[in-house]
Amino acid sequence: GQCSNHCPVGAIVEHDETQKVWDALSNPDLFPVVQIAPAVRVSIGEAFGYPIGTNLTGKLISSLKKLGFKGVFDTNMGADMTIMEEGNEFVHRFKKKDNMPLITSCCPAWVDFLEKFHSDMLDNFSTCKSPHEIIGVLSKTYYAKKHNVDPSKIFMVSIMPCTAKKYEIHRSEEMFASGHQDIDISLTTRELARMIKQSGIDFKNIEDQKADSILGAYSGAGTIFGATGGVMEAALRTAYHVITGKELSKVEFKQVRGLKGIKEANIDIDGTTVRVAIAHGLANVDHLLKEIEKTKAEGKPSPYDFVEVMACEGGCVGGGGQPYGVTDELRKKRAAGLYKDDESSKVRCSHLNPAVIQVYKEFVGEPLGPQAHKLFHNKYTKRKTYKK
Ligand code: SF4
Repeated sequence: GQCSNHCPVGAIVEHDETQKVWDALSNPDLFPVVQIAPAVRVSIGEAFGYPIGTNLTGKLISSLKKLGFKGVFDTNMGADMTIMEEGNEFVHRFKKKDNMPLITSCCPAWVDFLEKFHSDMLDNFSTCKSPHEIIGVLSKTYYAKKHNVDPSKIFMVSIMPCTAKKYEIHRSEEMFASGHQDIDISLTTRELARMIKQSGIDFKNIEDQKADSILGAYSGAGTIFGATGGVMEAALRTAYHVITGKELSKVEFKQVRGLKGIKEANIDIDGTTVRVAIAHGLANVDHLLKEIEKTKAEGKPSPYDFVEVMACEGGCVGGGGQPYGVTDELRKKRAAGLYKDDESSKVRCSHLNPAVIQVYKEFVGEPLGPQAHKLFHNKYTKRKTYKK
């Protein structure tokens, strides 16, 4: 129901939608495809007795193939696409000092909160869609065309650490940008764990497999999206390139990592300072926003240029759709699994991901161009709240 869809910490159990996915998997008229979010790979193991934070991407992909999905993609690739759009959006606004700070918008619980309680800041929001929406729309356009599949038959399931994603998939008409709904069903990590168990798959002994081309290849920047500060760090890696035309010799921005409720940093990009802030957990978010609103109301310049916001403490690793019993220790270990994945990635910046380059070259054109705007961007509206 409405409550469970909006509860960012999952205190209310999600509305179980696994039956709809079983039905799609056994419907011969459909072409079921699936994608996994960054934070799911480092938490699913908890349902199967693995040490916390173990990265199980390969086993997850094999299990999804075994369940019968005809295309298994990675939301991390969508995160790289989000960064291409949002990194360019940031640089564009930063140069013009237009609607500063830019605020990230890939967390739907946060989008809902802003539309209801801070609607004076709607213009500060990045218009870019969240990573799973981008993979969804690409599966029903680019992928469908390349693989000669009727897009109306594609049934896209996303596996998310999140209950709010169940609401995001039909939150506005932009979620139907290709004429089809970008995402048909959004399941939580817990729902997928149940499906794997019900199917009798021997998760521990299944061999690792890779996600399918071309919506499965990701950079280290894409994978850290699941931890607080990860979107900011990924965006900075690409923004550096957009601003300077050069590549970073050291890609890590450790100042934006960790579990402090509000993190602030001044990032030096070749002599230009970018002032960033990161808030996670809605109480911290509210605090930070009020500070920004206050300077706006007083007509003063914004104290920040770029702000990352996640409704859940720790970011999506601590999401409401994750295995129960989240503590800071657990959040740290899950995040460490993602940072390790980044460190061991050959490509660590979104704009250097060959799959991203190919999708722009063959299909989208330029970041922020007309096709990108049509498929990858959102609008926001002030929404009502009811008080008695
Ligand atoms: Fe969902 Fe992540 Fe936002 Fe939590 S932080 S509500 S898991 S998108």
